[in-house]
Amino acid sequence: MPTAYISHAECLAHDTGPDHPETASRLSAIEDRLIASGLFDLVRHVDAPAVTEEQLRRVHSARHLKTIRAMLPQQGYSRLDPDTVISPETLPAARRAAGAVVAAVDLLVSGAINNAFCCVRPPGHHAERERAMGFCLYNNIAVGAAHALEAHGLERVAIADFDVHQANGTEDIFKDDPRVLICSSFQHPFFPFTPLVENSETVISIPLDASARSDEFRAVVRDHWMPALERFKPQIIFVSAGFDAHRDDDMSSISLTDADFRWVTDQIVKVADISAHGRIVSVLEGGYELHSLARCVELHLRMLMGAG
Ligand SMILES: [Zn+2]
Repeated sequence: MPTAYISHAECLAHDTGPDHPETASRLSAIEDRLIASGLFDLVRHVDAPAVTEEQLRRVHSARHLKTIRAMLPQQGYSRLDPDTVISPETLPAARRAAGAVVAAVDLLVSGAINNAFCCVRPPGHHAERERAMGFCLYNNIAVGAAHALEAHGLERVAIADFDVHQANGTEDIFKDDPRVLICSSFQHPFFPFTPLVENSETVISIPLDASARSDEFRAVVRDHWMPALERFKPQIIFVSAGFDAHRDDDMSSISLTDADFRWVTDQIVKVADISAHGRIVSVLEGGYELHSLARCVELHLRMLMGAG
């Protein structure tokens, strides 16, 4: 069965202003790399629909949605926090970014695809129920996970997050929901400087030292994520795919390599095959050094396609 590649041209129009790391060039660099490698012709292309208010309300408060709308500038820029710049084109992009994950879930549950990669921006995992932050407005992956639970009646889903930053938004939304297993690792102490959450049966949140390299990261995945995923038997594994722990990405100090991102994807594919009928919905989060980002997304996608 095919791998879906879900994106939308409106995600390119979200303008974060001069000197901001989260730019449309990220998506262009990924697409150029996939075209050059030939992978772009092998995936099933899907235009992301715009998320609905009802789908957003499963994970965000009405006040949060209203605040974003009220802050949207007619022209130029405004800031939801020191890092989160929005422009008139931001809201359509954010709606497509969250809608992509919803569409991925619908396609997956219908049996039309085996897995999906949502190549979207703005990213999502810092967005809390009540608060936009860290470049994120809507928590795209949480919107998708809630859609799987509420619209399709799934009973268990997992979210694996290998972005270098703590998934404070995803934790805020799901840490007390027994239907959602969150597996993450992240540099600590580091942005977003939110409190560590207590680990539990369904929260595997593992801080890594700034000096961490492949060995430390792989040990977390092998010793903490994999046993939890095998035990939990999620019906879909969502992946918050951030590539900003790469050693070439100066957003962080952790030094992972291309091979680590390939390896962690392979681990997730293997556990999904055993525990989740192979179902994976991967969603782009961070990754700001364009060369390593594009290379690692290619490897990530290859593993999802079984073409590694
Ligand atoms: Zn990040």
